[in-house]
Amino acid sequence: MSIPQEQTRPSKEAAVSAAQGSGRIGPNAVTQLISALQNGGEGAAAALIFSQAGSAQWLDSPPTEMVDETRVAKLHATVRELLPEARANAILREAGDTTANYILANRIPRLAQNVLKILPPALAARALTRAIGAHAWTFAGTGRFRGVIGRDAVFEIWDNPLCRERDLSPGWCVWHTAVFERLFRELVSSRTIAEETHCRANGAPCCRFVLTWRRSEFRAAAKVAPNIKADVPHARNSSIDHG
Ligand SMILES: [Zn+2]
Repeated sequence: MSIPQEQTRPSKEAAVSAAQGSGRIGPNAVTQLISALQNGGEGAAAALIFSQAGSAQWLDSPPTEMVDETRVAKLHATVRELLPEARANAILREAGDTTANYILANRIPRLAQNVLKILPPALAARALTRAIGAHAWTFAGTGRFRGVIGRDAVFEIWDNPLCRERDLSPGWCVWHTAVFERLFRELVSSRTIAEETHCRANGAPCCRFVLTWRRSEFRAAAKVAPNIKADVPHARNSSIDHG
């Protein structure tokens, strides 16, 4: 995969939002987690998780505005702390899937979705990545997002605020992975597989997600994904490279 040089400037919306909403992300990271726990029969666990994370009031009154990213990080980490690993992953994946469903239902116009669906996957991936980058502040908070489109889509979140807790278990950022995968499966290719190949929580310099719609090639693609660049993106939340 070539590493393209062109970088887009932050969109006006992203730039304004980053300045005004520093340290905050969209409430779906909380509200969809509540739904996933309750729909998954984990109501008792939900009470314990939210209490231990210091956000018990969110269970009674789910947030409707942008929320403090550090509180969400603590919440997601507490899910991992109190539930068995496989169960925690399933809950966070479900929360990511339903977050993407919310975005599809409320944030991406139907006409735009129809256009993406008839485009060849590579072109749809490029357009969707641009849209995701423009709204990265809603899922990356103070982190910085970069999307690289080549044979596959490679997303990076530098200083990902949701995985500040150090942990050695792989695939920490299940919620992010699920959001990206669900959006791509709906708008780029139903064959899309997303995997977090590097994670800040494991000591990598950034969280890196590889999305491919060529299923048989995925494992090979993940293995040869380019080394993480040393040049950390400076533009907060909105940098997209094109291959
Ligand atoms: Zn990560």
